[in-house]
Amino acid sequence: VTRQVARWHARHAWLPDGLADDVLLEAVEGRWSRVEAGVPAPTETQRLDGVVVPGLADGHSHAFHRGLRGRTHGGGGTFWTWRRHAYALAEALDPDRYLALARAVYAEAALAGTTTVGEFHYLHHGAGGRPYADPNAMAEALRHAARDAGVRLTLLDACYLSGGLDATGHQPLTGAQLRFADADVEVWAERVQALQPDVRTRVGAAVHSVRAVPAEHLAAVASLAPLTSAGVLHAHVAEQPAEVEACVAVHGVTPVRLLAEHGVLRPRSVAVHATHLDDDDVARLGSTATGVCLCPTTERDLADGLGHAGLLAAAGVRLGVGSDQHVASGLLGEVRAVEEHERLRTGRRGAFTPAELLDMATAHDLVGWPDAGTLRVGARADLVEVRRDSLRTTGAVAEQVPLVAGTDDVRTVVVDGTAVVTGGIHVRLGGADDVARLLGSALGALEEVA
Ligand SMILES: [Zn+2]
Repeated sequence: VTRQVARWHARHAWLPDGLADDVLLEAVEGRWSRVEAGVPAPTETQRLDGVVVPGLADGHSHAFHRGLRGRTHGGGGTFWTWRRHAYALAEALDPDRYLALARAVYAEAALAGTTTVGEFHYLHHGAGGRPYADPNAMAEALRHAARDAGVRLTLLDACYLSGGLDATGHQPLTGAQLRFADADVEVWAERVQALQPDVRTRVGAAVHSVRAVPAEHLAAVASLAPLTSAGVLHAHVAEQPAEVEACVAVHGVTPVRLLAEHGVLRPRSVAVHATHLDDDDVARLGSTATGVCLCPTTERDLADGLGHAGLLAAAGVRLGVGSDQHVASGLLGEVRAVEEHERLRTGRRGAFTPAELLDMATAHDLVGWPDAGTLRVGARADLVEVRRDSLRTTGAVAEQVPLVAGTDDVRTVVVDGTAVVTGGIHVRLGGADDVARLLGSALGALEEVA
């Protein structure tokens, strides 16, 4: 038996204890077998002249929202008017059209250095809420798309039972929401348990939100999460003030407190957004060891509000980032926005160090792959090389390159020891223009049915 060894030499690489020079990286069977700094480049090695960082993890994706980019800015409005556009788009999707769209979206993500996507998946069923012959047909389309794009996938399958929450209580499902919902929490759990993991796919659980899952069902969703292959439990939390106000009116407590009281907040749980928090909420996220996934480009696009990244970090909360509605591509841009939003909120620069921001961009543990996201022997062999010689990055010191790079500056992406992007070109799906054409044809197919 011959073991396949892959080898790279990085001029600069972010190792667990900081930036190092002349790093030899060897992978055997998809895992790092040697990571050594201060080694001259051997002759038969792929040389990476840029800055090498670990694989980037997207903690919160809704692949189909990519279809809204650049199409929702005309009429003003709020999160709630934007949501009508998302519902209309959802109605146009079926498994084949979702496969074509998600393949292109994940390829765009791979070109930007994403090696794992946490897909918060709630578009489950056909028109009117009728299950497909395989009730997981939409999840299987996402799995297929991620495989084609060469990225790892965590299917965060969201329970969705109610159409909303206002001061009078939970509302019935209407319109596109019927496609998100299962008949009850037991049917949701059966469907999730029928989803099998594979070498690149894990399954986790999600509470869509306290708007969509009535309190009496939260514990049932929480109890399934540890049985899944990813073991994580995600929930949208307090993205909008209206959710907090309705929750307080109906339950007498904030969404964070309600989720905590029903066992949803704990280690391996992730609160997505967590934008509108009081001091008690911040402390509770810290004391329960709940992670928080910030999605700053979406939060500012939807006028959600400024988050609490600095306060959460001070409370000991593990932070990650998500692309969410894919309003912009690239997780380096997301962590840059986390820092910039803190600067606007506090009037001070440097809330987070470059190393701390990189740690957020590579938080694979939050999506159930704790053995990825670090350049260390034994970890999954992912890497992302960012150019130092582009218009955007020339002149930047190596340590700060990830803070100024654009997605076009990602030159090499490796997942599990296999190159997915080389020379800025996706090895299977082509360059940025080719992926743009894939996106264009997937979106065009949706316009025909919309
Ligand atoms: Zn979301």
